[in-house]
Amino acid sequence: MTEPGRRTWLYIGVLSGCFVIATLAGWTTLAKRIDHYAYDLTTAITPVTDYGSDSIVVAIDEETLRQRGGMRKIRTILAEALEQISAAQPKAVAVDVILADGGTGASDQSEDARLEAALHDTKNLILSCDLVPSGWEDPLPLFASAAAAIGHAHSEVDRLDGVSRALSLEETANHQRRWALALEAFRISRGQPITESPEDLQVGEVTIPAPLGASGRPMLIRYLPSGITTVSALRVSQNALALKDKTVFLGITALSAARDRLLNPDGINIAGVEVHAHAFETMARGNFLRSAGNLSTLGLSILFTIAAGLAFAFLPGWMAYAAALAIIITAMTVPFYLFWQGLVFPLSGPAFVAWLSCSGAATYQHFFVRRQLRRSESEKSRYQQAIHWAAHEMRTPLTAIQGSSEIMTNYSLPEAKQKQLSEMINSESKRLARLIQTFLDVERLAEGHMEMKREVFPAAGVVNTCLRRVEPLASRKTITISLDTPVEGTLTGDRELMEYAFYNLLTNAVKYSPAGTHVSITASARGDALRLAVRDEGIGMDAKELKNIFRKFYRTQRAEQSGEVGTGIGLSIVEQIVTHHGGRMEVSSEPGKGSCFTMILKVKLQRNIVAETIDR
Ligand code: ADP
Repeated sequence: MTEPGRRTWLYIGVLSGCFVIATLAGWTTLAKRIDHYAYDLTTAITPVTDYGSDSIVVAIDEETLRQRGGMRKIRTILAEALEQISAAQPKAVAVDVILADGGTGASDQSEDARLEAALHDTKNLILSCDLVPSGWEDPLPLFASAAAAIGHAHSEVDRLDGVSRALSLEETANHQRRWALALEAFRISRGQPITESPEDLQVGEVTIPAPLGASGRPMLIRYLPSGITTVSALRVSQNALALKDKTVFLGITALSAARDRLLNPDGINIAGVEVHAHAFETMARGNFLRSAGNLSTLGLSILFTIAAGLAFAFLPGWMAYAAALAIIITAMTVPFYLFWQGLVFPLSGPAFVAWLSCSGAATYQHFFVRRQLRRSESEKSRYQQAIHWAAHEMRTPLTAIQGSSEIMTNYSLPEAKQKQLSEMINSESKRLARLIQTFLDVERLAEGHMEMKREVFPAAGVVNTCLRRVEPLASRKTITISLDTPVEGTLTGDRELMEYAFYNLLTNAVKYSPAGTHVSITASARGDALRLAVRDEGIGMDAKELKNIFRKFYRTQRAEQSGEVGTGIGLSIVEQIVTHHGGRMEVSSEPGKGSCFTMILKVKLQRNIVAETIDR
């Protein structure tokens, strides 16, 4: 794969990773809590135009219970309240008290009879049932027969914070489906049937968005900030006018007795009957909130990731950061804006995605740009150093050529001397050409562009050529060089490069040894490995220096102080050449005692070849 292609895929990978992590984080409890907080905050700050409410709560409050004999007398209280409610001519009456168990005593029976009569006298009556483990807990048949409908009074409570934000309009137990009390009250008050589709419910003109899912048909309740008008059950007749043509929700609000005290998004404790009334009002106003599905949320998050990716890929510097800021601000505000349009998006998921994608993209680009910069800087310095090295290496043959040619022109020399000088010019210019070739080869080798030659040549040839070449240098420093063991076998690869490498080891040994010392070359072959070692008695190196010597342009302090010129590039090239030939380098050294550089190369030994031939 090309470098830009690889980079693009890596960038996409980083962004996808950010997306996945942030999306998963959006599903955590913490994120859900943030979403709830944002939801509650938005509901609190969303203005709701006050319009005369369509419902009214008749509350069996603390005072009613106190004055009328407490919960023991609930049926009488209900009967009395219903009698007065009916007289006020409401549109419908929903009773949020489960009338499931009958009394057995004589007074109970008379109470039940009064309640039965009151229920039968109530027009458009909706009774409630509750969800119990065994199924539906319905009103007793004598009460149920008075009802136009029976709706469930089961309130949905959020598992995390106990707030009732939604009401399931449909619940099924024991294969029996019940609409919610509020929905039944709405249907009956409108005198219209419920038409259902998977996505919503239709009552008359009103379409209620309540998609059918695993948890029934949840409908988000829009709580009225001013609350629902509430009249105490004790004072119904005094407020008869307020009840006229309204849908009445009759239920217990007394803290001590209410079966279901719930929390609204404002954190206020309200009774179940009030929650039903608010749900009813939500339907009556037709101003619904829809929950955005998981797919839309994911879609929005993907858009943020793509935007972050594009911004950092195509915009320069500060503009990318400005775009990232815009993306994050959008992610943080879009849910609020959409909420006002009636669409509820979670805040945390897409916001996390926007944050993480922007950070991921920014970090990636930052490091990428820095790496590019570092690479081009090191390339530049490498190139400069390489030129320096080439110039340095060329100086010696050039000086020799220059000197010899000057002598030949300025002096009349005997023929033998002339011949010697012209031979020297010839060999030095060949060396120069070789040097240029080596320089180019090494450069290409470093860039990874070079196909190495693959010729077969005797290892001994390489050693002898280099030995001959280094001899004058050594004798100038009165350093003796010996080849202590015969060199066996053939190598495969580039002879020129291999000579360069071995010659480098020899010149280093001579360069970094004091006059009068000895350099020894040993060769040993085992299996297919040839160890070619150059041991000197020179300045040596300590362990720390040893670690660095194959780094380009590294020179030890000791080498600098020895007065020997060098570029610190030779050994790095040696190592490259050896590894390109499938071999490796080994070095041991001790300061002041000397060093031993060993090339370990793949070799074919004559005796092995012979053995192979015989085997065949
Ligand atoms: P150069 O000799 O041009 O400085 P090299 O890459 O050949 O560059 O060597 C790198 C460094 O390794 C040398 O500068 C020197 O410090 C150290 N070095 C190499 N060979 C020897 C040796 N035989 N003895 C001591 N130090 C050595």
